[in-house]
Amino acid sequence: MKALVKEEAAPGLTLTEVPEPEVGINDVLVAVEKTGICGTDLHIEAWDAWAAATVPTPLVIGHEFVGRVVEVGSNVNDFAPGEIVSGEGHVVCGRCRNCMAGRRHLCANTSGVGVDRPGAFAELISIPMTNVWHHAPDIDRDVAAVFDPLGNAVHTALTFKTLGEDVLITGAGPIGLMATAVVRQAGARRIVVTDLNPYRLELAREMGATLAVDPTATDLGAVQRELGMVEGFDVGLEMSGQPAALRDMLAGMAHGGRVAMLGIPVEEIAIDWNQVVFNMLTIKGIYGREMYETWYMMSVMLESGLDIAPVLTHRFHYSEYEQAFAAARGPRAAKVLLDWSV
Ligand code: NAD
Ligand code: ZN
Repeated sequence: MKALVKEEAAPGLTLTEVPEPEVGINDVLVAVEKTGICGTDLHIEAWDAWAAATVPTPLVIGHEFVGRVVEVGSNVNDFAPGEIVSGEGHVVCGRCRNCMAGRRHLCANTSGVGVDRPGAFAELISIPMTNVWHHAPDIDRDVAAVFDPLGNAVHTALTFKTLGEDVLITGAGPIGLMATAVVRQAGARRIVVTDLNPYRLELAREMGATLAVDPTATDLGAVQRELGMVEGFDVGLEMSGQPAALRDMLAGMAHGGRVAMLGIPVEEIAIDWNQVVFNMLTIKGIYGREMYETWYMMSVMLESGLDIAPVLTHRFHYSEYEQAFAAARGPRAAKVLLDWSV
């Protein structure tokens, strides 16, 4: 089968023929239709220090996908050929304390599809049945392809109650943009989104932001005055990984404010802990998706009108992967999709 492979420990990717994956007794074999390009894939393509320390070679990469079941292992009763599915990208051990207690998103021994086990940028992927999510047969395939990052957005955005609250989202990448629509649907009052990129700020407005601002041009104090806010933000969703964004956020929170941190810090971040202590802030780290409450919430929010279409900005055939990766790195893109169905 055709697959996009990190062949050796160096920058670049190769589109090549690899053997079809094996289907164990507990596995589901999926014919991939659409995939999304994630920041993780850009790191692996570029072969930065994180990738060099994490990714074994050779490896088929990619973890955001939708496809059709083509074969199931002998132990699998809940899935059948023809069904439309996506896969949870974190494969958990099932045996650690958290897994045994049903808190699988807190597994201490997670492996990652397309990171340290074979991925989805291929015509076929084999994954454990415990990682497969059924879609409604009529689901928009492009939306279904990005359930993994949509799940990051939903997990983060629903971690704290946002009904009636003023929410700050730092970072309008694909995940921050999707989170904007999620908190809008969840009943937030004012939603302020920050980013440095004007194209993404415009998308944030389209996704339902009350105000979308470049924090280097407009400080958050001025934004709060403009909106008539007197006590600061109730909920913060950090989705940039940037030190300045986290510091701006902590300074802008109301007393008792709650911060969910999804952004992966690009470096160690020093913060003013006095703001955390005296303003009694809660900061919670978020990783991946809850298995499978987040997946359930994504499905039902889409069924009740959540619209993430503006985030899906580019579509390419998998053979055009070089243009697709260039677009994903470029300044005028959010989520870039690859088509594997033809
Ligand atoms: P992205 O890199 O596309 O988006 C980040 C955005 O932050 C960019 O648009 C960038 O312009 C903006 N930004 C840069 N400096 C900023 C600043 N000072 N203030 C506000 N915005 C600023 O990433 P994404 O795919 O949307 O993911 C968002 C973050 O979540 C990334 O840090 C990513 O690594 C992380 N992530 C975490 C998990 C997890 O499970 N914890 C999963 C996926 C992604
Ligand atoms: Zn575990």
